[in-house]
Amino acid sequence: MINEKMRLLGANRSTIRELFEFGQKLKRELGEDAVFDYSLGNPSVEPPKELTDAMISLIESTPAIKLHGYTSAEGDRSVREKIAEHISERFDTEANPNLIYLTAGAAAALTSVLSAVTTPGESVIVISPFFPEYRVFVEACGATLKVVPAREKDFGLDVDAIKSALDESVAAVIINSPNNPTGAVYSKSDIKALAELLSKKSKKYEKPIYIIADEPYRELVYDGAKVPFIPRYYDNTIICYSFSKSISIPGERIGYAYVSPNAESSEDVFRAICGAGRSLGYVCAPSLFQRIIPDCLDVTADLAIYEENRKILYDALTEYGYDVVYPSGAFYLFVKSPIPSAEDFSDIAKKYGLLLVPSDDFGCEGYVRLAYCQSTDMIKRSLSAFETLIKEFQ
Ligand code: PLP
Repeated sequence: MINEKMRLLGANRSTIRELFEFGQKLKRELGEDAVFDYSLGNPSVEPPKELTDAMISLIESTPAIKLHGYTSAEGDRSVREKIAEHISERFDTEANPNLIYLTAGAAAALTSVLSAVTTPGESVIVISPFFPEYRVFVEACGATLKVVPAREKDFGLDVDAIKSALDESVAAVIINSPNNPTGAVYSKSDIKALAELLSKKSKKYEKPIYIIADEPYRELVYDGAKVPFIPRYYDNTIICYSFSKSISIPGERIGYAYVSPNAESSEDVFRAICGAGRSLGYVCAPSLFQRIIPDCLDVTADLAIYEENRKILYDALTEYGYDVVYPSGAFYLFVKSPIPSAEDFSDIAKKYGLLLVPSDDFGCEGYVRLAYCQSTDMIKRSLSAFETLIKEFQ
């Protein structure tokens, strides 16, 4: 018998994907230039040269049979050592290669980690608005999602609200900073307050409550914003990192899970992550892309392009009268819908060729998300459509 839950997951595309597919159809009907697609967070900036150089050199210098073979399940030892060295130097800490598990992107890191640190019936706190796949990943473990809204004024962490939601069922809190969809970067003081709260509650409930730090956008910050390194403030932290966005290789699927060496029973946590990856059939992360990592740890795609896009769009939208929270990171703008229904607003925007994702799937009503990782040219051409659209509501 078909598993109905899985059939529904496969049959119902996410709103983001629906909108993207709609955009493809619209482009065929009206022409490429008539559609301003802000739906997908697919990087548009070329990967750095170091990536291409590393690939060519690996292909030329490594026997193909070795290059494309299985690695050990947790990843190639020398790559894990290089990542540990990089983390140690960058964050002035002692990272341990034995606690680094290479994965097919942050998504596989998240599913492995969630499966490792939750048991069916427990719950996981997420901060809304949140990346919609969290619900899918958490529920696949038999756990439930507890949604806690972010502070409305700046989408920062509302630690009092987290405190009210925290009960004995909570196994972990997922933190995503820089944030998709708001672009918020959580402050050091909020992270410290969260760490204090979780330490108290872990004691009270006599079990570790993990912070799962989902960090695919760590490198995408602007105006000198700093992303706190959470293991510095909280021992029971597991980071889910990804190279998808920072070096523009989302289709190649490479990232890692990193267990803080100070986590309680860190080696057992790591083994549980490996076990979860095994049970999910991950085998090992893509072999060629594991091996490019050492050459790409200190580089990013040209982030100045995203920074320019952000400025053009933010300045224009606020001038036209849109209500936008200034984003410090990632490549998303979260814009208040001028009418209560974000879905209706998104539908009206389509008339002008603007594809804006309504916020309902992110667990929050009344906003639209714009992924500005698009070409600067498209963004400039879309401005007059935004200006005409908001006039309908003024
Ligand atoms: N987490 C967040 C918040 C994301 O936005 C994404 C991708 O868009 C992911 C995780 C998954 O990233 P990856 O491509 O590394 O699996």
